[in-house]
Amino acid sequence: MKAIGIDLGTTNSLVAVVRDGRPEALADGEGRVLLPSAVAYADDGSATVGEAARAVAAERPHDTLLSVKRLMGRTKAEAEAEGLSTFRLVQDGPVLRIEAGGGQHTPIEVSARILAALRDRARAALGDDVGRAVITVPAYFDDTQRQATRQAGRLAGLDVMRLLNEPTAAALAYGLDKQEEGRFAVFDLGGGTFDISILHLVDGVFEVLSTGGDTRLGGDDFDRAVAEAMLREAGVDPEQAGPGLRRRAIAAAEAAKIALTDHFETRFALDTGDGRFERSLSRDQYESIVRPVLTRVAGPCKQALADAGLRPDELDGVVLVGGSTRSPFVQRFVAELFGRQPLADIDPDEVVALGAASQADLLSVDSELRVLDGGDVLLLDVTPLSLGLETMGGLAEKIIPRNSPIPASRAQAFTTFQEGQTAMDIHVVQGERELVDDCRSLARFRLTGIPPRAAGAARIRVTFQVDADGILRVSARELSTGVEQKIEVKPSHGLTDAQVEDMLQASLDHAEEDVMARFLRSARVEAERVLMPLKKAMQVEADLLTEEEATLITHAIGQLEEAMGGEDHRAVQDLTEMLDKVSAGFAQRRMEKALQAGLKDVAVDALEGELADAPVGGGAHD
Ligand code: ADP
Ligand code: MG
Repeated sequence: MKAIGIDLGTTNSLVAVVRDGRPEALADGEGRVLLPSAVAYADDGSATVGEAARAVAAERPHDTLLSVKRLMGRTKAEAEAEGLSTFRLVQDGPVLRIEAGGGQHTPIEVSARILAALRDRARAALGDDVGRAVITVPAYFDDTQRQATRQAGRLAGLDVMRLLNEPTAAALAYGLDKQEEGRFAVFDLGGGTFDISILHLVDGVFEVLSTGGDTRLGGDDFDRAVAEAMLREAGVDPEQAGPGLRRRAIAAAEAAKIALTDHFETRFALDTGDGRFERSLSRDQYESIVRPVLTRVAGPCKQALADAGLRPDELDGVVLVGGSTRSPFVQRFVAELFGRQPLADIDPDEVVALGAASQADLLSVDSELRVLDGGDVLLLDVTPLSLGLETMGGLAEKIIPRNSPIPASRAQAFTTFQEGQTAMDIHVVQGERELVDDCRSLARFRLTGIPPRAAGAARIRVTFQVDADGILRVSARELSTGVEQKIEVKPSHGLTDAQVEDMLQASLDHAEEDVMARFLRSARVEAERVLMPLKKAMQVEADLLTEEEATLITHAIGQLEEAMGGEDHRAVQDLTEMLDKVSAGFAQRRMEKALQAGLKDVAVDALEGELADAPVGGGAHD
């Protein structure tokens, strides 16, 4: 099963994969690696993606959606305030939709089209089981924007293993993570956006120290500047030029710009409508036209360095990303700005996707790069399998999900199942299955000294910590007394790559029956939780029950117990709820009586117990 890396760009997107130990970008049937991030909707609702969509943008400006990345996780008000889009936007409750082709589409849906096209490209190249992906996002993306990107991935049928910051991906592509420590600037100048990020590498993990940029600055601005200069020279006021001429001038400007990346001089030719304008354009001439635009990158770069608290000479490297950094003028400018030669060996269009592919590979159980790195040992840069513990009913509760980067630390609260319970068994398990019996048992220990209280009243905080060496430390602590127990295990001990693969496969094979089993078992546990104290109370406090009530409750108990012997979890849930209802009056009276008797603690405990939403910990009663 191959995991892919996707650069979901504003202008262009692409997909890469590690093959034969090296990341490579995948091309479409015609050898093109970049997929324009364009989706055109026809009136019947069908969509075309990529080159074909961009080709009709001029004809169908409202139906061809471009730069939708700018709208991810945004509202109409935000988009309009920031002038993010020229499309027809509709705000529907919390959801932003774009009108195109007679229908409405969320930015997530549009992005999903692009991702699906890349997924199909990867499947054509690698086989049908391609589904796991790392997708890159700008470092400055907030939670909502990241969430939206994840959803787009899911909608495209991808299992999004991780979202990776674009600058981090670029740094990974250059192998900068192999160093002990370092500080790097990633300079990303694309078509319409400029991003600068300062990264700090510590212990193999990149931390974003600062980000900056300009969301309205990119290669397109160079093209506009050149187009306007040329139009003026041809005797046309750029403001007065019609959209057709303007578009032709911009296209000619972009062609000239790209030609000047490899040549010192090129010809600029334009059909003005009234005639043909043609001249030669040298690098120097081009540079003097676009200099005022390029100079605008300097401010954000200085600001990002200042925000990171660094001087340019404290950087250990500068990485170039984005199609516009191919230009020698841009490269020279960056070199002067940072006082060092930037890294530019890797194709700046591909570098982010290549880094994402490396990361996707490293997150996979059958990683090629990891094998190259360390032979056949399982290097734990992420947890290959979920780590969790057993809860009532023999269910596995995952605490640290698989693929979590390590070091990792998570805590969760558990509670007691029985009244007066003073001990809890902690059974640490590994694996993806829902039932403990199908998981790998790692360790067991018992927390004792829990003060006896009502069921569900005690709070036991269980903490899972995996350190950089893959050692798992589990501790359980009762919060009111502070009593604590802990244990240490090495989850990877005796575990081979093949076993990990088998365990993952088994969880996929049994996904459905596992979920049903979990539903049934948790329904049974819930039922027990209601039944046990109720049955006891009916004996001890029978005087609080009317005869009619007693009959009703006994009947409901009988029905529930019968359902618990069956396999229908819904029946168990419904009958538990029913029992809760018919015994509500009884519960109320018990509570009142307890309060009157001055047994305040018990009452409060019982009340807390009913409110407890914490899962019930392992079934130790003593
Ligand atoms: P984005 O990240 O916004 O999707 P890209 O990184 O794909 O954008 O960059 C697209 C920009 O790169 C366009 O403005 C394009 O004209 C420019 N570009 C592509 N090739 C070259 C080149 N050889 N020389 C200069 N600019 C180039
Ligand atoms: Mg980009």
